[in-house]
Amino acid sequence: QSYLERIHALNPALNAFVTLNQASSLAEARAADARIAAGAAAPLTGIPIAHKDIFCADGWRTTCGSKMLDNFIAPYDAHVISRFRAAGMVSLGKTNMDEFAMGSSNETSYFGAVKNPWDADAVPGGSSGGSAAAVAARLAPAATGTDTGGSIRQPAALTGITGLKPTYGVVSRYGMIAFASSLDQAGPMAKSAEDCALLMNVMAGFDERDSTSLERPDEDYTRNLDQPLAGLKIGLPREYFAEGLSADVGAAVETALAEYRKLGAKTVDISLPNTRLSIPVYYVLAPAEASTNLSRFDGVRYGYRAPDYTDLTDMYQKTRAQGFGSEVKRRIMIGTYVLSHGYYDAYYMQAQKIRRLIAQDFDAAFKQCDIIMGPTAPSTAFNFGEKAGDPVSMYLSDIYTIAVNLARLPGMSVPCGFGANGRPVGLQIIGNYFAEAEMLGVAHQYQ
Ligand code: GLN
Repeated sequence: QSYLERIHALNPALNAFVTLNQASSLAEARAADARIAAGAAAPLTGIPIAHKDIFCADGWRTTCGSKMLDNFIAPYDAHVISRFRAAGMVSLGKTNMDEFAMGSSNETSYFGAVKNPWDADAVPGGSSGGSAAAVAARLAPAATGTDTGGSIRQPAALTGITGLKPTYGVVSRYGMIAFASSLDQAGPMAKSAEDCALLMNVMAGFDERDSTSLERPDEDYTRNLDQPLAGLKIGLPREYFAEGLSADVGAAVETALAEYRKLGAKTVDISLPNTRLSIPVYYVLAPAEASTNLSRFDGVRYGYRAPDYTDLTDMYQKTRAQGFGSEVKRRIMIGTYVLSHGYYDAYYMQAQKIRRLIAQDFDAAFKQCDIIMGPTAPSTAFNFGEKAGDPVSMYLSDIYTIAVNLARLPGMSVPCGFGANGRPVGLQIIGNYFAEAEMLGVAHQYQ
């Protein structure tokens, strides 16, 4: 009730939630009360959570931030949603996002941009900007997000919260609307690493309905929270502290690193030489996969259909012309182009090869250090409109996050102070494959 009241008061200005269902939330809360009274509670029973509107939730409108799905009611629960439901968590509603998760500022949402709770002129980051703003403004104690090139970590950094993108395959993508399937991964967004660990205990684990879900022993993600840091070797990639990083973000990250040294960690210089190729490679591979995934939105099977048309082809064309926004169309056109006969070898195949080199950079780095740290984003939150007219400058805001998705590694963002304009700064922590529990411990010791 208290969170719903806060949402009611603050969401009209923030636009963090796109769909609320108070009756359903209160019914789930009453069921959780009954479960607690019966002595059958799980650790998170009764705790409210907000879900990014990319996750299908049975009976809930699920829009993915698009006019294309404005009227789509999901007929089943995503794996992540069913896990949280089974744990007795109370769903507060669905959060706003960039259309089909394509964006870094929430400005591509069909439902209007989310405001950054720290400053109404500032973007909240994207694409999980609604989830980030909801947690930052205390409209929800926890939220789900997805990260294809930075969409959990970058909005977490820009709103001063904690977010984790797990190793690819650790959290099932079943029922999560696909953007770029080889990069998409769901993860928790919350106030602290400890809360993220508790959420991971619920959302991680094998699911046979996702062919890329990994079968691994059950983990307790809280197991490392109290692990001391003495002797920890932190790698600092020189490419992450170079030209393009704003001075105030660099200074906040340095202050955090000094704190880690006080806690007994050592820092070593490392290099990830192919960093500069990660954005061009991503903007071949992600649009290629998106162009394929989004072909299912044809006016027949899901959501929007253009009201007037002459024949089937005309219906497809008008539906897609009217249903998708311009960033989504840009990606579909790029993706279709790089996959087309004659260009496939020059772009798609090349990008796949460089993706491997980027992963090998990390393999080499983890021979010299236990964990990697750097900034999550090159600057604090920028203003609305500042990058919206220039896609390439928008794409560059993910320069430090994208390589992690290409390599399928886990990465997180932890708040580490404020920039010159008083807006939050995020420290990025990158771990080796399946090192989520270690990373959460490293973050918790600092927090
Ligand atoms: N900003 C990047 C993009 O627009 C990443 C988005 C994401 O991680 N979903 O594609």
